Amino acid sequence: MEVIKGDITRVEADAIVNAANSSLLGGGGVDGAIHRAGGPQILAACKKIGGCETGQAVITTAGNLPFKGVIHTVGPVWRGGNSGESELLASAYLASLRIAKEKGFQSLAFPNISTGVYGFPKELAAKIAIQTVQDFLRSDPGLSVMFVCFDEENFLIYKEMIQR
Ligand code: ADP
Repeated sequence: MEVIKGDITRVEADAIVNAANSSLLGGGGVDGAIHRAGGPQILAACKKIGGCETGQAVITTAGNLPFKGVIHTVGPVWRGGNSGESELLASAYLASLRIAKEKGFQSLAFPNISTGVYGFPKELAAKIAIQTVQDFLRSDPGLSVMFVCFDEENFLIYKEMIQR
């Protein structure tokens, strides 16, 4: 596991994960950045799929981006913590990891799912993300995972937690 700061559309990896919404029709934040950089092919592929439930993931072409695919997952909206948010966030990470494995990818980059507009507390989200990836890699050590932090706050949280 590795932590980097920056824009996920510019990393080097077999695939990147998008923090999408359940319509898959695009949005702001990292979703907007990926669609802007990847071009209309990604949106066309998303429309064909038709949607994705919270905690699930789907894969599309990466369009103009130099990846083998973009994995779109839908993290939960934070509603105070008693609506299964933690389980759904773990599920979003796990569903993405499973697709990467299925496709035989060797490296995968995650954004900090749900910690933007969806309002998930960043510390708790990082803890869940790291734990879920760590557990997965224990049984599947073949995948290299990168956490791409766009904001300084997440970057500091991840750096601190990964060092432990
Ligand atoms: P969500 O709706 O899941 O909260 P957002 O896109 O609003 O999704 O935010 C998720 C995380 O993505 C936030 O931590 C935000 O800082 C980060 N982010 C925004 N733009 C980018 C980008 N280009 N690359 C990587 N992360 C990004």
